[in-house]
Amino acid sequence: MSKRDGWRPEPSYPEIAFVGRSNVGKSSLLNKLMKRKAFARVSNTPGRTREIHFFDVNKQFVLADLPGYGYARISKERKAEWRPLIEGYLTDSPKLWGVVQLLDVRHDPTADDMVMLDFLAELGVPTIFAVTKVDKLTKAAVGPRIGALANQLGLDPDQIVPFSATTGQGRDELAAALMELLDTPHWKPDA
Ligand code: GDP
Repeated sequence: MSKRDGWRPEPSYPEIAFVGRSNVGKSSLLNKLMKRKAFARVSNTPGRTREIHFFDVNKQFVLADLPGYGYARISKERKAEWRPLIEGYLTDSPKLWGVVQLLDVRHDPTADDMVMLDFLAELGVPTIFAVTKVDKLTKAAVGPRIGALANQLGLDPDQIVPFSATTGQGRDELAAALMELLDTPHWKPDA
């Protein structure tokens, strides 16, 4: 355990962190990505998980599941606890190789999503965007919707991976993008 509150393991492998609003489909995406059913808990009670969960993948790298943000039913005080936890982790983790930010295909980015996006951009950490639950739209609607989201986020549509935990769409693309990221040198020159 680290000296910092004991909430995380000693960082010995490169880490990829996953961030998104509560209920965005983060647990489902992680389950699909790791091809392990019930590996990460899938929950209908958004916001219950306040800790960061670390999943060790084949002793090669670690996936860090950060608590979902911005759920309306959560009190301001609890939100105030989360922000330092999430931002502290992202700022201070020496082995953080990159971040996957999740967005729900059906919803426009919220203020919380934009705060997170700006925070990551300012930090300079490589970020991959995954748009979840694309099975909820018709195939024909997904492309234009990704284009519209990219526009709102100020991204190139190529930076976004359309994903569905239900159909498995995007699973291999996301895994490949993560492997490529893990293959590149750390983004902080002095790390
Ligand atoms: P989390 O709070 O971000 O971890 O979200 P969960 O993974 O627990 O998912 C929240 C809800 O969305 C659950 O009811 C899931 O079954 C549903 N969900 C997650 N991913 C998908 C998906 O790809 N397609 C569909 N149709 N539903 C999904």
